[in-house]
Amino acid sequence: MALRRQANPPEGGPEVHVRRLKKGEAVSVTIYSHAVWGFLCHWNGRFTEECNENPRECRGCQKGYPQKWKGYLFVMNEANRQPEFLELTPTSRDFIVNSFKPGEEMRGCRMTVTRGKGDKARLQIMFMPCLQTPQSCPKDLDPAPTLERLWSMVPGRLRPYRPGELEERGETA
Ligand SMILES: [Zn+2]
Repeated sequence: MALRRQANPPEGGPEVHVRRLKKGEAVSVTIYSHAVWGFLCHWNGRFTEECNENPRECRGCQKGYPQKWKGYLFVMNEANRQPEFLELTPTSRDFIVNSFKPGEEMRGCRMTVTRGKGDKARLQIMFMPCLQTPQSCPKDLDPAPTLERLWSMVPGRLRPYRPGELEERGETA
């Protein structure tokens, strides 16, 4: 008998969807975050792994996997009215941050984010008129618990984040 038994079904996916735009994809969102949440992670050549804040406990740091930075905004996707985390590149993060004056609230602002079709497609961002005030937006949400599950290397919890692996290799924006 070689069947692998497990009494409980695997954990469900993350409650909040994490969106990484594919080539040619666009999404219109309302921002719920106060600021861009940023995380370091590792690219192991096949998919994204977590970077542990303790380098001695970090598999990626130990193995010398390249470190990457990913930014996230908690947003409402206007197409399906569902909350989600929108992944940003360092360049698109800078563009968004520089679009606001210091202290200016980004909650309630709306934007359309488009990924170009080229090999090294950048994210294009176009702001749209706000429909919500910062006060009327739901609370911001920290993406860390969701990302931890996506990037975790703990056996049985492995849920590597790998939509568009090849695109990630060509990512520059
Ligand atoms: Zn690391």
